[in-house]
Amino acid sequence: MKNPILGIIGGGQLGSLLSVAAKKIGIKTVILSDDENAPAKNFTDKFIYGKYDNKSITQEFIDSVDLVTYEFENIPFNILQSINNEKTVLPKPEINNLIQNRLTEKNFLNDINIQTTQYVSIKHIDELKENENFFPGLLKTTTLGYDGKGQYKLNSKRDISNEIDFSKEYILEKFINLKKEISVIITRFGNQKYEIYEPIENVHEDQILKHSKIPADVSKEIIIKSTEWSKKIVEDLDYIGTLCVEFFIDKNDNLYANEIAPRVHNSGHLTINSHNISQFENHVRAVCGLEKIKTKKIYNAKMINLIGDDILIYRDKKFSENEFFFDYLKKDIKNKRKMGHVTIIEK
Ligand code: AMP
Repeated sequence: MKNPILGIIGGGQLGSLLSVAAKKIGIKTVILSDDENAPAKNFTDKFIYGKYDNKSITQEFIDSVDLVTYEFENIPFNILQSINNEKTVLPKPEINNLIQNRLTEKNFLNDINIQTTQYVSIKHIDELKENENFFPGLLKTTTLGYDGKGQYKLNSKRDISNEIDFSKEYILEKFINLKKEISVIITRFGNQKYEIYEPIENVHEDQILKHSKIPADVSKEIIIKSTEWSKKIVEDLDYIGTLCVEFFIDKNDNLYANEIAPRVHNSGHLTINSHNISQFENHVRAVCGLEKIKTKKIYNAKMINLIGDDILIYRDKKFSENEFFFDYLKKDIKNKRKMGHVTIIEK
């Protein structure tokens, strides 16, 4: 069978790195983005710019691809569904719909007996006042929040202020004493068929991922549990493609699943250099129905995100043969914006 043409919704660094991985194995990509200057423009075979609800633009996109995937989860469900009526969308739109809302996502995890932090749905300021046992807590919008956006730390009832925008819905999560954060990246090809990467240890600064490394410095029990939970999640969702589960470990070594990303993930960038097959290539292989290749670690590695001005230093830097620099070629440098990354492998 001839290789399919893969449509990708979203043109950020994940779309770029998916395009690069696809090209390497002879798959052409078409990117649809609502940002005229999306960095993936520089890496894809064809770039289509337009709003996702513009029918003629999405039709042009649908007509130029064989199947569709996405690099971010905040795409309205009805748009993914209507694309799926014409060309297969993977992961399935229903999965995206379940996961893009923190409440349904956490309910799903608890329904399949995966531990999360304790949480409660908050739709009104009065509900916040009634749930004192969740303080100190983090109030998070149920949709559209990422990298700490749309979150309020509330130590007690006194912190409830008029600044909180109650036109939105929230969950209030009990604050835990964090020791470590890890993520597990898994690519599922079909029933009980998957490739799984070892847990990755992540450090955040200002709620943005700063460093990732393998191996994660965690106990055997944590490795086994996080791996088993991740397998359970993809099997239960009947997921196809790469998915990331972010976990918290508290000071008593309790493990909590925090978030599921139904896509490739920033913490998995190091797999480009540490493994024979990266999270991006595995995603492309899985959604395009290509052969599953045994994924093996070649090197331990560390990845550093280059945020804002960091990129300027790296653009002029000389690298050793163990260092791999990726510039996302974003048009403007902005504070707190991920501009590139560098991976250092341990030889
Ligand atoms: P999130 O948007 O849920 O990924 O949260 C962003 C970051 O805030 C996480 O990576 C943690 O560092 C921190 N955080 C989120 N929820 C909690 C919690 N319940 N307790 C302690 N820290 C948290």
